[in-house]
Amino acid sequence: MKKAFLTIACITLITTCENSQETCIDFTRNDIGQYFENVKKDPVALREFLWQMPKGGDIHHHALGSVFAEDYVNLALDKGLYINPDTYQLYFDETDALSKDDEQAIPINTLIDRDSLAKEHIIDHWSVRNHKENGRDGRHWFFSTFQKFEPAMIGNEPYFLSKLCKAASLENVQYLETMVAVPSIVQRVGRLTEGKEWKPQTSVKDHLDDWFNHFEEKDIDQWAEYNAEVMDHWIRSTNTHGVTLKFQAVGLRIIPDLPITFAHLVLAFKTALITKNLVGVNFVAPEDHTISLSHYKTHMAMFRFLRYKYPEVKLSLHAGELVPDKGDVQANDLTYHIDEAITIAEAQRIGHGVDILSEPRKDELLTIMRKRQIAVELNLESNAVILETTPKTHPLQTYLEADVPLCISSDDAGILRSDLTRQYEMLVEYYPGISYGELKGLVENSIQYSFLDENDRTIELKKLKRLFQEFEKNKRPGVQTPDL
Ligand SMILES: [Zn+2]
Repeated sequence: MKKAFLTIACITLITTCENSQETCIDFTRNDIGQYFENVKKDPVALREFLWQMPKGGDIHHHALGSVFAEDYVNLALDKGLYINPDTYQLYFDETDALSKDDEQAIPINTLIDRDSLAKEHIIDHWSVRNHKENGRDGRHWFFSTFQKFEPAMIGNEPYFLSKLCKAASLENVQYLETMVAVPSIVQRVGRLTEGKEWKPQTSVKDHLDDWFNHFEEKDIDQWAEYNAEVMDHWIRSTNTHGVTLKFQAVGLRIIPDLPITFAHLVLAFKTALITKNLVGVNFVAPEDHTISLSHYKTHMAMFRFLRYKYPEVKLSLHAGELVPDKGDVQANDLTYHIDEAITIAEAQRIGHGVDILSEPRKDELLTIMRKRQIAVELNLESNAVILETTPKTHPLQTYLEADVPLCISSDDAGILRSDLTRQYEMLVEYYPGISYGELKGLVENSIQYSFLDENDRTIELKKLKRLFQEFEKNKRPGVQTPDL
């Protein structure tokens, strides 16, 4: 009886709203806002609410780390890949294993046939599952997983991208901005540096100019075209399940040879000019690795050089993914990474931004981020596993108070054995006072601050608005929550 009354009351109010848009918006917001406050207290109901809620985009995640170990295992079994039974390092075949001095590798099918627990061990080695129980350091274990399963990804990208899109569509994510690289092309472009030495005699800028000209003489453009063709092919061959899929191309920050790093970045920027499917550039691998730390300033100079050469190419940088005493971090490293990513490289978005409180210019930086609308991509679970951040140590509150735009993203859902919904659950744990309006604002940011061009962004924002209207309609009191 009560239910019926509320439903009628809603209809009456909605009808009234046609003449007064303001009343309608207030009514809906208050209504769903109260609903959200109620479910916050119940983890199961909260999970259901956040799962069903439109989540816009996931604009910080890595294709390689987003696939679940079970999917890699199934493909490896299907294709008869080889694996080392102790380290669980995967290989394309026996020749590949032998070329890497691994004489113990056997077909993965043989291993799983002879050892009923092998699959479980593989999953533990290809993700952070049970890492604490097994006494493994989260940071070390997390970064050790990627290379173990990478051979399963290579050559099967559309298959796994389809899986990512399906998972996204199931939890109401409409847009993926996925970080990818084409390893074979990246490797070949690295070879363009052979026979020339890295010796900055005059200024870094002139030196980079010299190297840039060198790459052009070596026809790096043909590799950029090839790179674009492969990425376009991946998108064409992926079943996107209705999700809009775009890529960011990545450089690697742990390569000892600076010219190779620069060659990869030139390739990434040039590729972004060719294909609309590549909407930005990023920089990956542990920021607290000794090479990343020692080359940080030169890397930022490279980005500045390329940003000025190609201002139309968008840039997001992992910056400030650091805490004291993790990796090779020393006190000074915690003082300038976000600063230089913003002021030297002029990144339009920052990934992680965890060490902001250690940066001496934090107040100025927060002001710049607010004024220039430089969004921070928050990866709460990844930070908790790798950096051991907690609601008390994570700078979420600082960013909120400074009114810096924030987005919620998943980073590596496969390795973390998680999803985007879980990141929103963590957001509520970290910021229990968050209102429904603020939550919705963060979701909208994931499209607003995406690297989509203006036209595509408008289309996605309209879609998001429509999805929220449907979601909110179903969440009014008196309307039954559909089963998952
Ligand atoms: Zn990342």
